[in-house]
Amino acid sequence: MDHASHTAALIVAAGRGVRAGSGNVPKQYQPLAGTPILARTLSTFLGHPAVDRVLVVIASGDEEIYRAIAPRHDRLMAPVTGGETRQDSVRNGLAALAGAAPQRVLIHDAARPFASSALIGRVVAALESADAVVPAVPVASTLKQVDDAGRVTATVPRDGLQAAETPQGFTFDAILAAHNKARGAHRQFTDDAAVAEWAGLPVVAVPGEPGNVKLTTAHDIAEANRRLTAESALALGDMRVGIGYDIHGFGAGYEIMLGGVPVPYRRGLVGHSDADVVLHALTDAVLGALGDGDIGEHFPPTDPQWAGVSSDRFLADAVARVAARGGMIAHLDVSIVAERPKLAPHREAMRARIAEICGITIDRVGVKATTSEGLGFIGRSEGISAHAVATVRLPFGDQP
Ligand code: MG
Repeated sequence: MDHASHTAALIVAAGRGVRAGSGNVPKQYQPLAGTPILARTLSTFLGHPAVDRVLVVIASGDEEIYRAIAPRHDRLMAPVTGGETRQDSVRNGLAALAGAAPQRVLIHDAARPFASSALIGRVVAALESADAVVPAVPVASTLKQVDDAGRVTATVPRDGLQAAETPQGFTFDAILAAHNKARGAHRQFTDDAAVAEWAGLPVVAVPGEPGNVKLTTAHDIAEANRRLTAESALALGDMRVGIGYDIHGFGAGYEIMLGGVPVPYRRGLVGHSDADVVLHALTDAVLGALGDGDIGEHFPPTDPQWAGVSSDRFLADAVARVAARGGMIAHLDVSIVAERPKLAPHREAMRARIAEICGITIDRVGVKATTSEGLGFIGRSEGISAHAVATVRLPFGDQP
């Protein structure tokens, strides 16, 4: 990597998303047409040739949900924790990047998943001759100033007014100094270009994109979902189906993990990880649909780092590979073969957990259980097996 051209992307994902009415799931982790918003944003930046490394600032407490959706990628750094305000979160991210000494940084809101590669390229190109660059689009509506009583007090002339977007690009040292200065002065601003302006940096505007909207409310997300679902039905027409199979034998223990759900039993399942046959079979099915190896290749049982780990990690990784190729999981289906324990009471919990791991809706997950009618080793209650099928939609012309 040419150090002089080093460009980092800082993705701000530390918001709690209360306006999106999402219950416990912050909006940046909610799915859009099957892929979490943040995963979409990340794949755009990780796939851009001008971006050398990507750092995400997450909220304290979001570590687990982040791990579940983050792709494994050599340019993706470990996440850092944000602060009280967006500005605090950006400053934490800049401080974490300082050790890598990037020349330029692109600061982007996770909740803008539609920023295009062309827009990123435009911002990076403008940084050749400027220290601060903001993409912006002309304001189309007539602007009214309205008081608390709902009375219009003025019509604001919109000549020259533009709405700021992200990613905003900066010379790294200049924006780090501006943010530190703003902290020293106890000043809060709504975007990083405003921090730069206040610190005296000339800021240049480049054309933004009308489609690069910030998803703020539940309505925004529902609207984007509708649009993407309609588009994907046309664009993601390259249908792939993968099959997966796994089996583990019973051993000592008092519960088994099946479909990411602990099921009490008088024995355990023996395996290198948590021996979750359902998640292992599903992982292989997704990898099979992609033609991208198998679970043993990506997570070798000889590698001590996977000993005893929770298998949701494996399935989330396979799903991230689908997202990285611009695709979506259309459906997952699994059949569990077990003489005992009784699995029917746990079936809905498994469907819900699998849907959560994959960032898809529960109607896209099937779980069935059957016995082996007392025949063979399953019938003798020596272990449990699972068969899975994954249906994956990829863009036409997909090239891994
Ligand atoms: Mg296995």
